[in-house]
Amino acid sequence: MADTAPIPDVLVVGSGPAGAMVARDLARAGARVRILEQGSGPPPGTQLLGLLRRKEAMHIAPGVVLLRSLRVGGGSVTFFHTATRPPLAMFARHGIDLSPALERVLAECPHEPLREDLLAPIPSLLMQAGRSLGLPWQRLPKMIDPSRCGHGHCPPEAFWSAHTLLEQAVAHGAELRTGVQATRVLFEQGRAIGVEARDHGAMQIFRAGRVILSAGGIASPAILQRSGIEQAGHGFFCDPLRIVMAHVPLARQSHDIAMSAGYFDTEAGYMLSDITIPAHFFRAFTWAAGRPDQLLNYGHTAMIMVKIRDDIEGRIDAHGRPWRRFGLGDKLKMRTGVEQARAVLKAAGAGRPYVSPWVAAHPGGSVRLGELLDERLSCHSPNLHVCDASVIPEPWGLPPTLTLLALGSDLAWRLSREGR
Ligand SMILES: Cc1cc2nc3c(=O)[nH]c(=O)nc-3n(C[C@H](O)[C@H](O)[C@H](O)COP(=O)(O)OP(=O)(O)OC[C@H]3O[C@@H](n4cnc5c(N)ncnc54)[C@H](O)[C@@H]3O)c2cc1C
Repeated sequence: MADTAPIPDVLVVGSGPAGAMVARDLARAGARVRILEQGSGPPPGTQLLGLLRRKEAMHIAPGVVLLRSLRVGGGSVTFFHTATRPPLAMFARHGIDLSPALERVLAECPHEPLREDLLAPIPSLLMQAGRSLGLPWQRLPKMIDPSRCGHGHCPPEAFWSAHTLLEQAVAHGAELRTGVQATRVLFEQGRAIGVEARDHGAMQIFRAGRVILSAGGIASPAILQRSGIEQAGHGFFCDPLRIVMAHVPLARQSHDIAMSAGYFDTEAGYMLSDITIPAHFFRAFTWAAGRPDQLLNYGHTAMIMVKIRDDIEGRIDAHGRPWRRFGLGDKLKMRTGVEQARAVLKAAGAGRPYVSPWVAAHPGGSVRLGELLDERLSCHSPNLHVCDASVIPEPWGLPPTLTLLALGSDLAWRLSREGR
């Protein structure tokens, strides 16, 4: 069935940070934009927990679960709001100067270090402990608007999400269609002419002058493979993490903001920060670690996240099923980071630490810039682009959202200059 609405200039598949930014900027520049998003709004209740309820968790290696967010706003509705600037040199090596786009993004998105009074007792205790060991542990930059926060507490509207960009895109005339899952890109005479999609169960063709895939690090390579571009999805990273937990009798969780403070060791390839997770995750991890004695200590448990920069490895198939192994290098990095976290917990006066299974939350590097994409992020055809975490060209290990916003803004700027 063909869609009968007027053909838009640009079709953006996916409404996560990158898709929302490119759609907003293009709509603001006067393009007719349509966004196709397979999900709907966020479910009520704890959003992170919702990932499991909505089957957005998948195994990527034995015992390793990857979390992603298939809903309006993509990962930005479940993320921890840590705002790390892009490694500009990495993108410069691949022909993209991201600095002007980054400046634009920083001018509109909060990114300052967490205000001091918002540091809860357990993150504060861990920061003191880390510093006592000589670690550069500090409050992390957050996409949280401090002007909306009271003393020691932030209401939900202080936390940035891509919904802001989507609302602006719609205000500039973009159309956001939810419940529509793109299955493949259609081509005629070497040019993309639109996508085939499942629209609430029925197959539809959505035509457009240009197609931008922003469906995330797992879905974009799968869509490309189904469109005949088989080189997509060969290798990916996922920035796996483990959580090291221990009982701290003298401190208690209270409005803790996850990843309030920590540090990056870019040479060693890992980062450490405080983290807070919902009680259900805590109980599952505590049980899996063989520590039933800790099950009732949720409120008095200090948690340190160890996240590593893993190698690009494995495969994502045309059904969107990722699979990989973690090599010796990845395991050694994780072991070193976990040892460091144990030392910090000991310095904080915590009880005997235990460690969660591996979890991953940043799939990317699956349609790499410089291999499958040029600096216009175009792939296979000059009017087909990929703009999301898939395009990151090298092993990563950083919170990617600011980078993805900058990539979206840069692509929109290039296309606007070309007359879309
Ligand atoms: C628990 C957690 C905490 C995190 N914390 C941080 C943090 O503190 N800082 C940070 O920078 N990053 C963080 N991240 C990572 C960050 O959320 C993601 O890396 C980021 O959202 C990826 O953006 P994206 O634009 O590449 O794609 P996504 O955000 O994944 O968006 C892709 C969108 O495309 C839609 N889609 C997929 N397939 C289709 C299809 N076939 N048709 C139509 N639509 C489709 C999806 O539903 C989704 O809305 C965290 C992630 C998790 C899971």
